[in-house]
Amino acid sequence: MTARILVVDDNPANVRLLEAKLSAEYFEVVTATSGATALESVRDTRPDIVLLDVMMPGIDGIEVCKRLKADPATHHIPIIMVTALDQLEDRVRGLDAGADDFLTKPINDVSLFCRIRSLVRLKMLSDELRARATSSEIMGLIPPAANMADVRPGKVLAIDGRASFLERVKTALAGKHEVATMLDPATALAHLGETSISYELIIVNLDEGQFDGLRLCSQLKSLERTRQVPILIVVTPDDQQRLLRALDMGINDYIVRPIDRLELLARVNTQVRRSRYSEQLRLNVQASLELAVTDSLTGLYNRRYMETHLTHLVEHSISRGKPLSVLAIDVDFFKPINDTYGHDVGDKVLQELASRMRDSVRNVDMVCRVGGEEFTVILPTTDIETAKKIAERVRASVSSKPFSIDMGSGSANVTVSIGVAGLAGPRDTLEDFLRRADQALYAAKRGGRNRVRLAAA
Ligand code: GH3
Ligand code: MG
Ligand code: MG
Repeated sequence: MTARILVVDDNPANVRLLEAKLSAEYFEVVTATSGATALESVRDTRPDIVLLDVMMPGIDGIEVCKRLKADPATHHIPIIMVTALDQLEDRVRGLDAGADDFLTKPINDVSLFCRIRSLVRLKMLSDELRARATSSEIMGLIPPAANMADVRPGKVLAIDGRASFLERVKTALAGKHEVATMLDPATALAHLGETSISYELIIVNLDEGQFDGLRLCSQLKSLERTRQVPILIVVTPDDQQRLLRALDMGINDYIVRPIDRLELLARVNTQVRRSRYSEQLRLNVQASLELAVTDSLTGLYNRRYMETHLTHLVEHSISRGKPLSVLAIDVDFFKPINDTYGHDVGDKVLQELASRMRDSVRNVDMVCRVGGEEFTVILPTTDIETAKKIAERVRASVSSKPFSIDMGSGSANVTVSIGVAGLAGPRDTLEDFLRRADQALYAAKRGGRNRVRLAAA
């Protein structure tokens, strides 16, 4: 993971120390020794993270943080405030100013890299989301992404053997996040397996003397339903060994007992936001993919997708010696349906046709709308004789039951003609393959429609 980090401290010795540590881990480091130069540097170097000392003469860290968070050009850059251990007041002011997390001096390496790693991931997700949101908005594909400064309460599950600890977590997050609690791993896992709540963060206490928290974390990271949910663990200061194992396992962040309320809040805020960005990104990608490959009237795959996919399938089937068949389908006398009932009814008939066809084939088969009232069904690993049976089933699913029109007040009989072709051998090409299916379709039309014809091999 590479990222550019701006280190700000009025003491040059502190700057050099942090610069050395971060460079050793291959982060790119830029530095500033005052609030004013820090603001300039953010503008000029666009860092991914700012490590910001609170106490500085002139413009102090709090003020720098406020200004960066108030500017739309920089408010998405995560800021880690560096405070003195006894300065609780600084943390309160830092959080109010919009700081994303804290580190206390003297800075411990594990916490430094953990904070940075977690915020760099967040930043990458938000960058990706911003980039995609912009390009998709430009293409007019999807509406602008949800507000990035999402303030809805997060859904958090806290798991610990002691009710008193769970109460403390609840109190710390009260009014900001919704916290559900579980006293043991078995109950928690059962709950996670059946609940309809999509948790955005799970907090696990790794304290010794209760259940095996590391084991629970590894289970959470391997279960389908919880794999993507960030985990925040709670450890005691002397338990470095288990902390390192947990970090290796992929847990997202940690907090040391006794828990500082503001620190917990900052960590939870970051992880909840991260959950949301990932989810947003997933939905976003899915939506644009679907729009690019499907037809909006019927939801079937479009011609472009059919061609791309079939090209791969032809190559694959030839190299593996597997059969492959296609059905070329055209609606019979569709023009009169439009002429009689209107175009809207015609559209409804096409939708109903699409769903009948989809219901007559397997999930691995692909039904594509390749023209107005023309469809192609791709049948992987299917020989032409089997394809013929499937074609017959598709034909019957259309002709056996009239299509209801005018909100069910009337009905129309619709039929389709189908040409069937099978991949002919190692020298066959996509063009020939599809042409044979089309020729078989014309033969079905000439033969009287509402019928299936096989292509000559
Ligand atoms: P044939 O049995 O020879 O295929 O007769 P046909 O009337 O189906 O053939 P033709 O190709 O002459 O007409 C196809 C009609 O399909 C023309 C057009 O009005 C209609 N059509 C094409 N796309 C759409 C669409 O998206 N919606 C609707 N409602 N109709 C469409
Ligand atoms: Mg037609
Ligand atoms: Mg046609």
